[in-house]
Parts: sequence; structure tokens; C-alpha cells
Amino acid sequence: MHRLAQLDHEFVWHPFTQMREWLGREPIVIVAGAGAVLHDVHGREYLDANSSIWTNLHGHNHPIINAAIRRQLGKIAHSSALGLANEPASILAAKLVAAANPQSAIRNPQLNKVFFSDDGSTALEVALKLAYEYARRVRVKSAGRTSARAAQPKFLSLDGAYHGDTVGAVALGHIDLFHRSYSGLLFKTDKVMSPYCYRCPFNRAKPERADAREYRKCNWECVGKVEQAFFRQRKKEKPYTGFVFEPLMQGAAGMIPQPAGWLKRTTDMARGHGALLIADEVMTGFGRTGAAALVKARTDMAMEPRFRKRGYDTVLFASHQEGVQPDFLCLAKGLTGGYLPMAATLTTRNIFDAFLGKYGEFKTFFHGHSYTANQLGAAAALASLEMLRSEKSIRARQALEEALREDLQTLWSVPKVGDIRQVGLVAGIELVRNWRTREPFALRERAGIRVCEAMARRGVLTRPIGNVIVLMPPYCATRTQIRRMIATLGDSVRSALCG
Ligand code: PMP
Repeated sequence: MHRLAQLDHEFVWHPFTQMREWLGREPIVIVAGAGAVLHDVHGREYLDANSSIWTNLHGHNHPIINAAIRRQLGKIAHSSALGLANEPASILAAKLVAAANPQSAIRNPQLNKVFFSDDGSTALEVALKLAYEYARRVRVKSAGRTSARAAQPKFLSLDGAYHGDTVGAVALGHIDLFHRSYSGLLFKTDKVMSPYCYRCPFNRAKPERADAREYRKCNWECVGKVEQAFFRQRKKEKPYTGFVFEPLMQGAAGMIPQPAGWLKRTTDMARGHGALLIADEVMTGFGRTGAAALVKARTDMAMEPRFRKRGYDTVLFASHQEGVQPDFLCLAKGLTGGYLPMAATLTTRNIFDAFLGKYGEFKTFFHGHSYTANQLGAAAALASLEMLRSEKSIRARQALEEALREDLQTLWSVPKVGDIRQVGLVAGIELVRNWRTREPFALRERAGIRVCEAMARRGVLTRPIGNVIVLMPPYCATRTQIRRMIATLGDSVRSALCG
């Protein structure tokens, strides 16, 4: 075993990993990467088919992001945001606000304040705490008394939801396997049916060799369930403070895509009941869900001339693809192009204003992290954002989406493939024992893990979510690389499960 693998075995505890299994074999030790390719310590090459757990956008070792970080490193790596502002974070906040309020999307409400933190979980914690406190403060004032909602703000999120691993984010989640051990630590949130067409009890269609959203037969009962949840709370005189959702596709829930129109309908309903919309775009943000379009951007005259950049006004967030503008937009993973841990929670002036006051009123948002608004992360994020708005990147994303659409069709010939669901540049392939009955593999059979292990042996890396194999390549992946990822997936399912 390589010396580095030995050190890992001796000292490192890996996330979401059964360490007994891990210790039973030599781990892949990555030492370098370029584009969509990772290199291990033995000189082997692998395709990074899940963008290093959904973070990388433009490829590894990208010369533009490398140069931006090096430039920043020549000035300073980090100074605290507690009491100090800094150059790249100020510019990044302005650019994120511009990206979050595109000309082509609806403009209400305007997202115009950015709270930086470290990762997806903290982006959600920030939104949760702000919404909680806003509800207690503003709604008390407007009601002139302590309303039930104000006394104990309540949140609604989707079945199967995953919003991170810190305690507040876990409380918003509903994956029993991950969360039940910690129930004693959590506050209660409600869950509502998520629109999982392939396994929906209301879908009367027999399985076909197509994405279940296309052939479903139903009456939008999933939307009805959301409506019932809001009415039930209203009747109890405890209307929900916030509705938390991943727009267009739930990631860790199993790559569950929403049928067109679900997002708009449910969020309109939530607004109608006075709930704040909390969009978790940790996975979906920064173009992952597609819809790249070439629309020449207006130069933002509000920016200082040296910060004005020309580019294309492309929709970068999944919410905007259905014309939904949330009150909180939570971003992480791809924010820095997948280079450094940094997150941002964008919100409205309304929320911001509720925290203004004289020092002695103690309305301050008492929350922050040591590395909040880190300069290296901000420099990487600025370079990544600029690339996302370039014609080259937009065309690459369009081509990648098409390539995935075309090649994924080949997987329908694999009998253990039950559903293939693509949203933009993300795909989930659900493996089943029998596609005609949708009979699933039991989790203990490790079907997804076995397939991913077989893929790794063939030089393609990704991770399963239960029985769902995730494909989420970096935007720089070539046509040939996509073809290889998908062919390898097909071969691996055949060899691991069809024997
Ligand atoms: N929200 C979503 C939708 C996620 O997919 C994840 C991570 N997979 C998180 C939040 C948590 O992000 P992090 O792991 O960066 O804390």
C-alpha cells in the first residue's frame, strides 16, 4: 500500500463512510487534477463524473481561477470580516447581487444583501436563523401582539430533504437514515410530499423506458399536499414562517426532479400564506440545472466603472428558471468554482432592515465564522462568475446538456435501470431489481455502491445515493469524456448487477 494511503488509514476519518469497509482496501489517493480528470498516486487517471461531490464547475487546475487565487495570494490570504471589509468580498457581493437579480428573471423581491459563510450547511443555518428572528420581530410588531407564528416560527420542507449536517440544517432535513440518530438534538419541522414521479403513489402510469415525469398520470396530488399543509397550519393559527426547498431537483434525496410547474405552483401558494421562501441552491446554483442562454447583459451602471464587466445575462439559478424569486438564496459548492469552501446567503432589504437598530437594542445578527468572506475564496468566486457569463462557457454548458441528453438514452437498454432523470447538467440513474415492477434493491445489497466501485475500477469516479447513480460532470467535460462516463456506467451496471 502506498505510504499516503497508509497514513490515511491510520489517521483520517472520512465523511459519510463506513470506516470498517474503508480500512479493508487501499484508498484512491488523488495527487493532481486537470479539467475533468483526476490523477492518483500510482499515476492512474479517473474521470471526475460527480465534479468532486458537486462542487467543481470549470474543471480542475483551471488557469484562470489558479491565476486569480495567485494574484490574491500576492496581496493577502485572509483578514477577518468581523470589523473589517475586504476587496474581493465587496466586489463579489455586488456581483452576486447582480447575478441573483437578472434582467431576464422576475425582480421581486430584490435580493440585495449577502451574508458570507463557509459551506452549504452554514448557508442554510444563516437563512434559518434570519427567517426565525425576522418572523419573531417583524411579525410581532405588525400584529401588535405576540402572534402564534411569532412565538414559535415553524418551517416546512420536503420529504427526503437534505440541507446539510449542522444541527439547524439537519432539523430542516428529512432523510431518516442520516437524521434519526440525532432527533434528540433537533427542533421539529414539518415535511410535505416531494414530487417523486417515479415512485409517486398517485402516479397511475405503468413504468416505461422514459423519465417518469414524461409519462406520469396524475392530478398534481403532490401540489395538493403542499396546499393542504399550508391550510392545516393556517387553521391552527400557526402559519408557516418559511418554506424550504431545493428548486427543480432535490439532490441528496436521490436526484428527484420536479415536474415543470411544480416549483412555481407551490411557491406561489407558500407566498399566498405569508411564508418566506428559502431556496437551497447549494447544488442547483451556478448553472447546474441548465438553461444557459446568450442574452447580452446591460452594463450595470450602479457599479463603479472598473468593476463593470461585459458578459451575458445568463440565468444561473434554478429558481429563476421557473420565474421564482426567493427571500433567501443559499449558495455554496460551486460558488468558488469548486476550489475553496465558501458560501453565501442572499436576502432582501426587508430582512436586513429588521436587524437594524441602536447598539443597545441588541438587534445585531449575532452570527459569524472566522473565515467569513475569505479573500482567496472570494477571488476564486469572482473568476468563476466571470467565466460563467462568457460566451465560451455558455456554449460549453449547452453542448454538455445536449450530450448528456443524447447519451443517457443508451442506458435504457440496461434492464436494471428503472428511471433516468436529467435536469440540465445533472442526471440521476435509479437502479432497480425489476424495471417492469419498479422493485428496488434493498439498501443492504449496496447496489449503488457496487456499481460505483465497478466504475472506479474502469476509471470513472462518482458516488451513489442509495440506488441512484449521480452524473454531474464539470462543465469542461468533452463529448468523448461524457460518452465514456455513460458507457462505463452501463458496463458497470451490467457487470455488477446483471450477472
Ligand atoms: N444543501 C444541499 C442541497 C446540498 O446538496 C448540500 C451538500 N451535499 C448541502 C446543503 C450541505 O452543503 P455542505 O456539505 O457544503 O455543508
